[in-house]
Amino acid sequence: KLYNQVQDLKGSIRVYCRVRPFLSGRSSYLSTVDYMEEGNITINTPSKYGKGRKSFTFNKVFGQSATQAEVFSDMQPLIRSVLDGYNVCIFAYGQTGSGKTYTMAGPRDLTEKNQGVNYRALGDLFLLAEQRKDTFRYDVAVQMIEIYNEQVRDLLVSDGSNKRLEIRNSSQTGLNVPDANLVPVSSTSDVIDLMNLGHRNRAVGATALNDRSSRSHSCLTVHAQGRDLTSGSILRGCMHLVDLAGSERVDKSEVTGDRLKEAQHINKSLSALGDVIASLAQKNPHVPYRNSKLTQLLQDSLGGQAKTLMFVHISPEPDAIGETMSTLKFAERVA
Ligand code: ADP
Ligand code: MG
Repeated sequence: KLYNQVQDLKGSIRVYCRVRPFLSGRSSYLSTVDYMEEGNITINTPSKYGKGRKSFTFNKVFGQSATQAEVFSDMQPLIRSVLDGYNVCIFAYGQTGSGKTYTMAGPRDLTEKNQGVNYRALGDLFLLAEQRKDTFRYDVAVQMIEIYNEQVRDLLVSDGSNKRLEIRNSSQTGLNVPDANLVPVSSTSDVIDLMNLGHRNRAVGATALNDRSSRSHSCLTVHAQGRDLTSGSILRGCMHLVDLAGSERVDKSEVTGDRLKEAQHINKSLSALGDVIASLAQKNPHVPYRNSKLTQLLQDSLGGQAKTLMFVHISPEPDAIGETMSTLKFAERVA
């Protein structure tokens, strides 16, 4: 019901916010979050931001006690619309350590209870497809890619190959990265195997000091095709589940070389994404899709009939206040 109201008010763009709990050992901190309810969050701001409180309004705000199941259940109608032929994009945005991967995939020690949106979404689509089996026959397949320094890489390779892939907007097949492996899936165990492969490949190139996953965007794309068993007509829907690179600003005086280049690429693509969503939200006729690989990749799933969920994540610690404010301002701009 809430989902439908939101739909009426905001077209097809929704913005959610989630506050991560304090990590163990740091709970003596006072949270920067002053107050929170349904769609409102109030932040205690230090003097730099005009000491006091600042409130933000989004479609939904999840607090530190929100469970993975609660978060998923709010997104479920959006996710299910893929089987009705809609295109859906879900983005996890926020500084490194704010909980993006936790929301989308889950923690490192994955259990059924703490599985993130990616697993739950596919499991739920299988369930719904099964419920509709007398009227529809669905085929579901996934791709998983990474965008690092404006280069696209397939995460579903088993031979460690690291070929650069091209983005082609092909409306016939709906495959924008036609050379990335497209793997049919029909059970949650298929999905778990594939995610494991993707996560292993994503870790390639990372060292303890150099966590590449925070500096690349990863995108799990679910392609669903349904055949109406009576009319024979075909429906195609596609969903992109995107774990974005960390949004933190790096201090240009402190980083050089590869780090500076990475930071510039991230900056450019996150602001390109913000620009695209903001112009869609404002119903601006010109939508600047061409400014980054990420927005090119998602072009036909952003705008038009497509549904977008920008899910921003914030950390509760006072020392994160600068990034928290810039994340909330980013979210406010696209809301
Ligand atoms: P990001 O992907 O934004 O860098 P992570 O998802 O890796 O952040 O989260 C950082 C740490 O916080 C991880 O150890 C993660 O398991 C933990 N964490 C994040 N969000 C939650 C949450 N809602 N509940 C419990 N632990 C969380
Ligand atoms: Mg992460």
